[in-house]
Order: sequence, then C-alpha cells, then structure tokens
Amino acid sequence: MRIEQVSLRLLKMKLKQPFVTALETVNERKIILVEVKAEGETGYGECLAFETPWYTEETIESAYTILSSLLIPRLLRSTIEHPRDVHQLFQSIKGNQMAKASIEMAVWDLYAKLQKLPLWRVMGGSKKRVPCGAVIAASNTAEALDQAEQFLNEGYSRIKVKISPQNGLDVIKQIKARFPLLDILADANSSFTLDDIPILKEFDTLGLLMIEQPLDACDIVQHRHIQAIMNTPICLDESISSLLDVKSAWELNSCNVINIKISRLGGVTEAINVHDYCVKNGLEVWCGGMIEFGVSRAFNLALSTLDGFTIPGDIVSSSRYWEEDIVLPEIVVENGWAEVTEQPGIGYEINLNRVQEITIRENVYTLD
Ligand SMILES: [Mg+2]
Repeated sequence: MRIEQVSLRLLKMKLKQPFVTALETVNERKIILVEVKAEGETGYGECLAFETPWYTEETIESAYTILSSLLIPRLLRSTIEHPRDVHQLFQSIKGNQMAKASIEMAVWDLYAKLQKLPLWRVMGGSKKRVPCGAVIAASNTAEALDQAEQFLNEGYSRIKVKISPQNGLDVIKQIKARFPLLDILADANSSFTLDDIPILKEFDTLGLLMIEQPLDACDIVQHRHIQAIMNTPICLDESISSLLDVKSAWELNSCNVINIKISRLGGVTEAINVHDYCVKNGLEVWCGGMIEFGVSRAFNLALSTLDGFTIPGDIVSSSRYWEEDIVLPEIVVENGWAEVTEQPGIGYEINLNRVQEITIRENVYTLD
C-alpha cells in the first residue's frame, strides 16, 4: 500500500472544566488531527502532545514540525504492507513518540477500513465491551466529592485522583469514607521524591488500587525502592516510552502495573507489544487517557478489548470533556461500560463540520 496524501489539522477545543494535575492545569486543548488517504479510503489519528513539555518533552508545535519535515515525507516515499511497518519505518528517528503515534494510528484506521474490519479485531481484541474509569479533575475537596458521587451514579467503578506531596491525602480519605466500594487510583505525575517516603507510606494505608508514577518521569531505578516498601502496587506511566523501558521495570521489580498509552509509546504497534509482554510476565495493564478527542478515545476503546486490559481504563463519554466532540456518534459510556461495534476502522465517522469550526491551521502533503 502507498499512502497518497496526508493532512494535518491543528485543532483547539475548550474543556468544559479545567483539568488539574500536580504539574499543570489544562483549560483548553490543542491536538493535531492526522488524516491519511489511500485506495479511496481515509484513516485518522490524533497527536496528543501538550502545548508545553510538562508531560513529556514533546510539544504540539515540535510534533507538527517533526510530522511535516520528517515523518510524512518518509511515509509518502514508502510502500507498506501492514501498519506495523510504519513503526519500523520510524525506528531510526529518536523519541518524538506522540508525533510518530499519530500518523501510525491513522494508518491502522486506514488499514482496518481497507480490510473492511473493525480496528479492535485487527488489533487482536476479543471483548465487545470494556469497563471504564473516570478522572477527578477538581480544584477543591467539595468539588472532588461531588464529582466522585456523579461518577458513581453514572456507573463508573473506578476513579482516578491526582495527588502530590501537598495534596490528595485528605481528599482520598473523604472519598473513601463516603464511597467505600469505589476503587481509587492515585496519580502523582512524578511529583514525589525519595524524601517524601513518609507521605507515600500514608497513602499506602488507604487501600488504593495503585499509585501511579510517584517519582521522576525519567526514573525506573528509584521506583524499585518505592515498590519494595509499599503494599500498594506502583504503576509506571511517564517513565515508559517503549517496550524496552517495560523490560527494565520488570527486571528491576520497579512496578506491578503499566499504564499503556498509545501516544506515549509511539503507536499502536508498541502498545500491543507492551500488552503482550506484560500479560506473559504477570504485569497488570490498563489504558490511560490524555484529555483526548474522539479519534484517540475510539483507539483507546479498541485497544482495551485486548485480553490483558482488566483494570478499567480512562475512558469517559465525549460529553464529559467537550461541548461537541469530533466524532459521530459521540462516544458514550453507559453504566461504566463502553461497547465496540462491527463498523470498519475506528467505528466512528469524523464530524467534519465540527473539525472545520475548531481548525486553526491546516496543511496537505503529497509526494509531488
Ligand atoms: Mg498518569
């Protein structure tokens, strides 16, 4: 297969409510919608780099540059048999995982459509419905309790709370006291150091499902010391940008859980590789969110149909974040579950009117 045309559209949408983490508050979200065309079909992917490098080193502008100057020309000049070939094609370019993932995703969607198969089946998934979890994005305890109650009423069985050495302990204690059956996952976004072990030990008494990424985004070795003294499973997120990182974490006993994000891992191919390795070696996995638009949400849903995804992922209804999403129909979570369909590709149409409305830059690339 030869890709005939690639388009990039920089889109911007305002969140319904600010998304607060230990490192950054996100009020509006820019992403790049990537479109690839071949043999009369169109595939879509999303680049989820943030505007500043607070999550990983990439930014939405650095990704736009890498896509247009390196990745797209390389793809347009190549013949590929399977989306896995795109992963191989970009191997010699270091880093830039979110830029690479966006275009690789688009080729996966295109390939599935050309095969007239749903993406989740092409990925090797087997479950037709997946359990979903939600993230508390509140600026105070009262708001967090309200959100937890709302999520519980909507059927979500697992929530995620953002924590730091200064925040989260009291919020989680209060949520636990009020909703004892709710599974709680705490995400530190690398805001702790080894000096904060006494505070982590307090979090360890709360019966959390896991604590995600307590230490530095580049660290795998020090997490080993944390896991060794904690009963709560440690999950790695920012530290994991490849299968090789997962292998290091497993060899060092640095964690018991891996948060699989297609974007952070450079694409669907590596996400599946990580899933397969973790299942084989007894590490638990779940699918993390990135404040994404509908295309990525559809990919997360498809990926979560693979057997190893037993812990509810960060998959919420489109309407939780956005006034109007870019897919039709919008993605809906009912009673804590989302379902996949037999529609070819990602299973959702692109809402082109909505895309048009929120486009702030657009470029089209062909081989000529
Ligand atoms: Mg995280």
